[in-house]
Amino acid sequence: MREKIIAGNWKMNGTLAEARALVTELLAKLPTAEGVETVVAPPATALATVAELIKGSKIALAAQDMFWKEKGAYTGQISPAFLTEIGVKYVIIGHSEPRGRFGVAEPDFTPTVLAYFGASDEVVNRKAHAALKAGLIPIICVGETLAEREANTTDAVVSSQVTAALAGITAEQAAGLVFAYEPVWAIGTGKVCAGDEADRVCGVVRAAVGKLYGAEVAEKVRVQYGGSVKADNAKELLSMKNIDGALVGGASLKAADFVGIVTGAK
Ligand code: PEP
Repeated sequence: MREKIIAGNWKMNGTLAEARALVTELLAKLPTAEGVETVVAPPATALATVAELIKGSKIALAAQDMFWKEKGAYTGQISPAFLTEIGVKYVIIGHSEPRGRFGVAEPDFTPTVLAYFGASDEVVNRKAHAALKAGLIPIICVGETLAEREANTTDAVVSSQVTAALAGITAEQAAGLVFAYEPVWAIGTGKVCAGDEADRVCGVVRAAVGKLYGAEVAEKVRVQYGGSVKADNAKELLSMKNIDGALVGGASLKAADFVGIVTGAK
C-alpha cells in the first residue's frame, strides 16, 4: 500500500512572518492522518525558519527547486547540500513554471524573458541525479499544455518527460521517487482535470516507469495529481487508484484549505 503524499507548493509566496503564521496554524489544525504524509514547500528564504518550526512534527519539508552542481561559481543557485543541512526531505523538480510552461497567460513574458525559465528535460534529469546523490527525494513534475492535449499528444508528452527524467537512474532509486502529474492548463486556472482522466494519466506515468524498470518498481512509485486541487475536489481525486496524493499550489496558502485537502486524503 503506497502512503499518500500531500504537498503544498507555496511558490513565490511567504515572507518570514507569513510562513511562521501559516505553519503555526497548520501545526495546530492538521489531522493526524495515518497513511498520509504532509509536506510544505516554502520559498528558499523561509526553509530554515520553517524547518525549525516543524522539527519533531508530522510535517515534512520540501524545496521548490535546486541546482545540480555541488558548489562553485553559480551565482544565485541553491545546492543540494544547502537543503539537506537544514532538514529538507523532498525537492520539487521540473515544475512547469521553471520549465517555462505557464497555465495562466503571462503577456509580459516575451520570448527572451521566457528563455529565463527554460528548464529542459535534461536539466530535470541532472537535478534528479543530484537530489538522489544528496539523499533528497525528488518530486518530478510532468504534464501537458492545453495545445498538447488538444493535439491528442498528452500520453506521448507525459511518457517522454518521465523517460527523460529517469535517464541513468537505477531501479532502486526509481522505486522511491514521487511524480506529480500536473496538466499545465489546470495549474492556477481553477480548471481541474476530471478525476477519471487524472487517474488515467497518472496511470500513464506509472506505465512509463514500468516500461523502464518493470511492474514491481512501477507499483512502488507515488504519483500525485496537481492542478487546482481544492478541499472540495480532493476527496474524489484522492480516491482514484493511480493517484497517490496531491501537489497543491494556491490552496496550500490558507491553512483551512490545505487542512481540508489533507482531511480528504484520509
Ligand atoms: C502547482 O503549481 O503545482 C499547482 C498545482 O498549482 P494550483 O494548485 O494553484 O493549480
